[in-house]
Amino acid sequence: MLFRSNLSQVNIALVTGGSRGIGAASAVRLAKDGWTVAVNFRANAIAADVVVAQCRDQGADALAIAADVAVEEQVQSMFRVIDHELGPLSALVNNAGVVVAPPSRVADLSFERLQRIFSINVIGSFLCAREAVNRMSFRNGGSGGSVVNVSSIASRFGGPHEYVDYAATKGAIDTMTLGLSKEVAEEGIRVNAVRPGLIHTDFHASGGDPDRADRMGTTVVPMKRAGEPLEVANTIAWLCSPEASYVTGALIDVSGGR
Ligand code: NAP
Repeated sequence: MLFRSNLSQVNIALVTGGSRGIGAASAVRLAKDGWTVAVNFRANAIAADVVVAQCRDQGADALAIAADVAVEEQVQSMFRVIDHELGPLSALVNNAGVVVAPPSRVADLSFERLQRIFSINVIGSFLCAREAVNRMSFRNGGSGGSVVNVSSIASRFGGPHEYVDYAATKGAIDTMTLGLSKEVAEEGIRVNAVRPGLIHTDFHASGGDPDRADRMGTTVVPMKRAGEPLEVANTIAWLCSPEASYVTGALIDVSGGR
């Protein structure tokens, strides 16, 4: 489904998984900074509508685009819509990601669960990065740009006894950030990652542990609280901005000291 208002901004950003949580906060924060924002979602069109309206409230243009990032044709189609409806992309926030219920030991993981989580979190991020880089690169006549991958501090902890599969996908995202940043640095593209800690979103309910952020926030986090989506979005917006012009290949923890 497609929603748009009058489009006039020059700087265009795509936020994958922009309909809820950290992605929604990032979309609205980028809109506040004057970006035109493509708000990607997979299933929840009503939530994406709300985010588009919030972007417009900031005076920005916005477009909601349905695409499953794990499906190559849908990713390619999403980027073509941006090309035609908005113009040249200059920022990608590779945010769409899932955790799968229930918390499980590696010994109990099914092939289907592994295939799903790696398809969305890793292959989806690679597909979107590929499409973005091909458009932004000086090599192809692009004007450069910024890719921000949303990883997790789980890549440092490994998620034992509950989400090793998820943590491993974020390890892959960290590595992709390091490699891709060096690959395209001369082509005008900066590639960085934010690694959130425990953030208040629907994500934990999706993983079968809805109280996780509140419960662990007050115990294991040095700042004694879970974070808010906007606290991650502020870092993402900074990485997209010219203020971060000499920052690439960085993995920035936004985790209350954890
Ligand atoms: P969330 O509230 O569950 O939102 C997930 C978003 O991703 C939704 O907009 C959802 O769209 C979208 N999405 C899911 N699967 C998709 C797919 N296949 N294709 C396109 N979009 C898809 O999650 P969140 O907490 O904001 O998480 C955002 C990112 O932060 C993820 O990469 C997550 O791993 C990372 N992170 C979160 C935390 C945390 O504590 N919350 C901590 C560390 C890292 P629909 O609603 O349409 O399904």
